[in-house]
Amino acid sequence: MAEVRSSENVPAIQVERLHKYFGKNEVLKGIDFHVDPGEVVCVIGPSGSGKSTLLRCVNRLEEPTDGRIFVEGIDITDPETDLDGVRARIGIVFQQFNLFPHLTVLRNLTLAQQRAKRRSKSEAVDIARHNLEKVGLADREGAYPAHLSGGQQQRVAIARALSMDPDMMLFDEPTSALDPELVGDVLGVMRKLADEGMTMMIVTHEMGFAREVGDRVVFMDGGVVVEQGPPDDVLSNPQHARTQVFLSKVL
Ligand code: ADP
Ligand code: MG
Repeated sequence: MAEVRSSENVPAIQVERLHKYFGKNEVLKGIDFHVDPGEVVCVIGPSGSGKSTLLRCVNRLEEPTDGRIFVEGIDITDPETDLDGVRARIGIVFQQFNLFPHLTVLRNLTLAQQRAKRRSKSEAVDIARHNLEKVGLADREGAYPAHLSGGQQQRVAIARALSMDPDMMLFDEPTSALDPELVGDVLGVMRKLADEGMTMMIVTHEMGFAREVGDRVVFMDGGVVVEQGPPDDVLSNPQHARTQVFLSKVL
């Protein structure tokens, strides 16, 4: 049996001494990381520092080489764990929107609900419309992705993830592929989710967003967590030279 820790007061995500190699390249060098229920954690750091790999390990899109990862107290590195069950609790939004191009917005939102959640069509449609409303796209349900802006497509991707009723949302640079004028709408949706108490892990280069919306900022460099803390501390008064150098380039 997989180890299950007490279900009360456990972190949403708990990563312990996580190591990840790609071949001989050690890209995560013993990461300890957690996200508490209802917490918004922003992960920042230079390109190649291992942010995406960490995020992808959390639902085992990447196999950890060593270490343990608990999602709501369930050890997902245990071979006995029902991975599909754990993955169903985690919504993920990537830089690329990954919508099905041949399906309408509404169908993009109902397909997985009907297949994985076994919802009836009418229930799936109701939930889809509720979430399209939430991301400000109630009027675009009949559109195909190619007819939407990048920002709209990303908001559809968020609504699609929300339609699966996740306990937490992981975002990997959700605004990095967008034209600058489209970034604000997507961040606005994420801010709303944060206000509603959604548990979120967000890899981002949007330092203003991290400062205003994040409960905690985690700075990674070279496969380690260099420092973390309240956004104002990490972003305005970084303790480590590597953090200072990074921030001097991006702020
Ligand atoms: P970040 O998201 O911080 O930019 P990544 O986690 O994407 O960093 O990458 C960390 C390191 O791991 C990089 O050196 C990258 O080249 C390497 N890497 C990432 N994914 C793979 C992969 N699938 N195969 C081999 N190397 C990879
Ligand atoms: Mg990345």
